[in-house]
Order: sequence, then C-alpha cells, then structure tokens
Amino acid sequence: MYQIIDGKKISQEIKDELKEKVTALKAEGKSICLAVIQVGSDPASSVYVGNKKKACAYIGIESLAYELPEETTQEELLALVRKLNGDSKVNGILVQLPLPKHIDENAVIQTISPEKDVDGFNEKNVGALCVGSKGFVSCTPLGIIQLLKRSGIEISGKHCVVIGRSNIVGKPMSLLLLRENGTVTICHSRTQNLKEITKQADILIAAVGKPKFVDETFVKEGAAVIDVGIHRNENNKLCGDVDFEKVAPHTSAITPVPGGVGPMTIAMLMYNCVSSVE
Ligand code: NAD
Repeated sequence: MYQIIDGKKISQEIKDELKEKVTALKAEGKSICLAVIQVGSDPASSVYVGNKKKACAYIGIESLAYELPEETTQEELLALVRKLNGDSKVNGILVQLPLPKHIDENAVIQTISPEKDVDGFNEKNVGALCVGSKGFVSCTPLGIIQLLKRSGIEISGKHCVVIGRSNIVGKPMSLLLLRENGTVTICHSRTQNLKEITKQADILIAAVGKPKFVDETFVKEGAAVIDVGIHRNENNKLCGDVDFEKVAPHTSAITPVPGGVGPMTIAMLMYNCVSSVE
C-alpha cells in the first residue's frame, strides 16, 4: 500500500511551529512585516495573494497589501520596490507573478533587495543556493524537501529525477536535492527517451505544467512521486502533472492534487519571512 503524502497536514504543522517562533520573537520586541504587491486583478493571483495574507495573519506576521492597477508602469512598480527596500519596517517583499506583459518580470525580481527577497528568485539568492551558502530558497522546492523529510523519505544517495527546468521549480528543486545528497537528473522538453530516465527514479518530481502527463509507464515500482502541477480539468476540478489514479498503486508514496505540494508553498513563504528576522 502506498503512502499519500498529506501536504495540508504537514503545512499546518509548519505554520504552527512558525506561529510559536513569531510569538517568541515578538516577546523579544521583534516584529515581522511582509509587503505583498499585486499588479492588475488576475483572479488566480488574487486567490494566491488572499491566501498569503491569511497565512500571515494566522502566524502573526503583519502584511502590507499593495494592489496596483493593471496599467501601472514598470518605473512606478520599481519605484515602489525601491521604497520598500529602504523601509526598515519591511522584512520581506513579494511581487505576485505573473505581471502584466508590459512589465519585465526579471527587472522587478532583480530590483528586490536580496535580503528581502522571500520568494528566493533574486540572482544573489539563486547563486547562494548554487554554491551552498545562506540565502532565501524558492518556496515550492523548499516545501517539497520538507514533504519528503517529514514523510520519512530518504533523499541521500537516491536517484532523484526532476522533470522541468524552470527557474521557479525545476532548477532550484534539483539544486536542493543535490544539497540533500541525492543523485540528480534533470529532464526537460528536449530530453530524449524521457521514460527510460524517469523509470530509474527513486524520487520522481513532476514539474512539467501538463495535466496528467506522467502515467504509470514513467514510474519505477515503489518510487516516491511528487506532483508539482496545478491544472483545472474539463470538469473544473484540480489535477496535477501526474495521473494519480494510474500512478499511485505503483508508488511507495505520492502527493495528491490538491492537498500535496500546493499548501507547502505558502507555508515555506512564511518560513522565509520568519528566517528574514531570525
Ligand atoms: P514551466 O512551464 O516554466 O516549466 C515547465 C518545464 O517542463 C520546462 O522546463 C520544460 O522544459 C518542461 N517540459 C515541458 N514539456 C515537457 C515534455 N514533454 N517532456 C519533458 N519536459 C517537459 O512551469 P513551472 O513554473 O516550472 O511549473 C510547473 C507546474 O507546476 C505548473 O503546472 C505550475 O502551475 C505548477 N506550479 C505549482 C506550484 C505550487 O505551489 N504547487 C508552484 C509553481 C508551479
């Protein structure tokens, strides 16, 4: 029988641990403040921003919301980021992605001070992850490491295959697994004989962005499978990059969608906010 990795439960544990830490920090006179900037009113982004604010309130982190109109110029956004960089009250700055097309996302990410870049997207933090020094790490991959560790899944020495090489998930995921002493293979859209590689994985991470892309023919018997994808299917129900029904019986452990990786992303954002003060 396979283990269903319960991201909801694990993320709640982490949030409760953080709540205690924040209470202790407050007793020392330290407070934590996260600035969340949203440009435009994309409905999915509004849901994510709302959930982030809720998590902040639960843990005891102050959140400052900046809801800017769609037509905000890049210069206006950069000016706000620079102002928040210089505001000693603000510990973390988060700019909700995607941004409207007329704004260069990378220019915005690189303008956020690395010390306040709680999303871990700034080049300085990515570089720190690469060389193994301290810095903020992208929240989704960081959450996946927690899911594996807290579910008793050993990473050290295991063959970890990551499908996807995006800056937000695939690349930092691979670097984190390497930091945990996994033997890592990165697959992407140009990989040849993909299934031959994924079938060697002890831990398979699917961050492909294609609904139900991974079926049982991709998976070695007894592997642990982590599904990063989030999609709406034809019935408007959430599903992942993995075909859960077909794959689960062949695994030793698997994350569901919803309730797997998704809740971990916000928990780890909170973790990064608390670390920014600690
Ligand atoms: P992306 O589109 O930036 O990257 C997808 C990657 O998959 C690319 O690197 C590409 O090379 C690879 N790929 C595409 N087709 C492939 C194929 N046929 N074979 C092998 N590799 C292929 O997406 P992303 O931002 O990395 O996100 C991936 C998925 O994770 C999406 O569904 C996204 O919605 C989801 N996501 C979830 C969370 C969360 O909190 N749960 C966070 C971020 C992203």
